[in-house]
Amino acid sequence: MAKIIDGKMISQQIKDELKEKAAKLKEQGKTGALAVIQVGEDPASSVYVRNKKNACAYIGIESLAYELPNETTEAELLALIDELNGKSQVKGILVQLPLPGHISEDAVIRAISPKKDVDGFHPQSVGAMTIGEPGFLSCTPAGIIQLLKRSGVEIAGKHCVIIGRSNIVGKPMALLMLRENATVTITHSKTSNLQEICRQADILIVAMGRPQFIGAEYVKEGAVVIDVGIHRDANKKLCGDVKYTEVEPIASAITPVPGGVGPMTIAMLMNNCVQSIEEG
Ligand code: NAD
Repeated sequence: MAKIIDGKMISQQIKDELKEKAAKLKEQGKTGALAVIQVGEDPASSVYVRNKKNACAYIGIESLAYELPNETTEAELLALIDELNGKSQVKGILVQLPLPGHISEDAVIRAISPKKDVDGFHPQSVGAMTIGEPGFLSCTPAGIIQLLKRSGVEIAGKHCVIIGRSNIVGKPMALLMLRENATVTITHSKTSNLQEICRQADILIVAMGRPQFIGAEYVKEGAVVIDVGIHRDANKKLCGDVKYTEVEPIASAITPVPGGVGPMTIAMLMNNCVQSIEEG
């Protein structure tokens, strides 16, 4: 029987700590707003944006919503970002992805001032993370580090295998695990013998975006399994990249979907916002 790593509980703990910190900063006259920009009306994006606004309200940070029509041009969006970069009260700028096809996500990410890049996607933030300098950390991987630490999972010296090499999960995850002194292996869609490599993992982090792909045959007895994937199964129920019922009995600890990694991403976004307010 694995220990269930409760992301709902841990994210709540973090949000409560941040609420206290934000109140203390307010007493010192340090406040600030998170600007949340959404282009178009993708229903999933609307849910994420609403959750981010609610989290700001809970912690006591002002949020400014910019809901732009789908036809917004790249130049218009870049002009708005430029304007927000110049506003001292705005401490964080978040552009909800994905963007409509006619707008370059890369150009938008680069336009956000690294001082306000609370998603941690700007190349300067990624570079700082790579060489261990201060900067905003990518939220989902930073949340996974918190999940592991706050669940008492030892990372140093452990073999961590990551499935996935995306810029928002796999790659930053590998860098953060390395920073915690794990021995890291990154696998991806071109990896041969995936199963054999995964079976060597003390900590297996699965971010492949393939519903219920990872079964018991990929997992070493006693491994810690972190499931980043989020999908709806045939019955519209949420599920991850891992076959939970099959893997749970052999893992020593595992994150469920929902209620594992998901809630941590917003908690770490809030952490970055409070950090930005603190740094002024
Ligand atoms: P992505 O599609 O950008 O990357 C998937 C990665 O998995 C790629 O690097 C690919 O090489 C690898 N991969 C795909 N098939 C594979 C295979 N058969 N064998 C080995 N590797 C394979 O996805 P992403 O943005 O990194 O997200 C991954 C998953 O995590 C998705 O389900 C996404 O919805 C979810 N996600 C969740 C959160 C959260 O907050 N919980 C945040 C971000 C992403």
